[in-house]
Amino acid sequence: MFTSIKGKSVIVTGGSKGIGQGIAAVFAKQGAKVTLAARGEEALKDAVNKIEGDVRYEICDVSDWKSVNEMVNSVADAQGGIDIMCANAGIFPNTKIVDMDPSEWDDVVGTNLKSAFLSVKACIPYFEKAGKGRVILTSSITGPVTGYPGWSHYSASKAGQLGFLRTAAMELSRYNTTINAVLPGNIISDGLLELGQEYMDSMAASIPLKRLGAVEDIGYAALFFATDEAAYITGQQVVVDGGQIIPESLESLGEI
Ligand code: NAP
Repeated sequence: MFTSIKGKSVIVTGGSKGIGQGIAAVFAKQGAKVTLAARGEEALKDAVNKIEGDVRYEICDVSDWKSVNEMVNSVADAQGGIDIMCANAGIFPNTKIVDMDPSEWDDVVGTNLKSAFLSVKACIPYFEKAGKGRVILTSSITGPVTGYPGWSHYSASKAGQLGFLRTAAMELSRYNTTINAVLPGNIISDGLLELGQEYMDSMAASIPLKRLGAVEDIGYAALFFATDEAAYITGQQVVVDGGQIIPESLESLGEI
């Protein structure tokens, strides 16, 4: 049995939808105080109504330092500090390099990668004050492990998160704070549904467990990294993908 995280102060960026909402629901179910941070207020309100427990929201653009810093300070006031930062917000527009406007590259890298740095930086004063802290990044298999046409910017941002993670793990150790990453495969989220049924069917066919993941699958992996029992794990990553990265060939899946 793991030590309870009841009463811990948690931020989940991108918590209004998809995986972020799943992470928030898992933490709230364990009795944590959870703030969802995203840009769209309507979706934030809907998510707060949907999730059972001590849940509130803040409007925030994770690619903007002022916005992130204000959000973190406001959450610390409301929840009595920051114990756990789940830096999860991300976007994944699909555009091939030949067609990509450089501004789209900047948007994706700003939202997915710079945001990790900003989220960690804003929390450091609170981790230092508390003498401990936890950061969990939502990365991806796409970039760190696999590639997919149309997602060069996304892949670079997600692999970049892991480069950031390793040095951040060293720097955060002086605040007794760990940082780890969850690498989801294909998880049924609001964003993934927008990619269409054909995409989802083709993905399910290439996964040994023969189905896409649920947002809670990522929530429970994040929860593990947040427990007292995971205190000696830092700078690490866990793939949660139903085995998707394992097959050597599509034919090998037919042997199962
Ligand atoms: P989603 O359903 O589209 O949700 C994305 C969330 O991020 C929303 O709450 C969105 O709210 C927020 N967001 C986007 N841009 C933001 C910004 N600039 N500032 C603040 N919040 C922002 O996506 P998802 O599938 O759950 O993905 C969540 C994370 O998991 C992403 O980092 C993604 O790369 C990663 N991931 C997902 C999968 C998958 O299969 N679903 C696989 C691997 C990795 P607003 O738009 O209102 O701000």
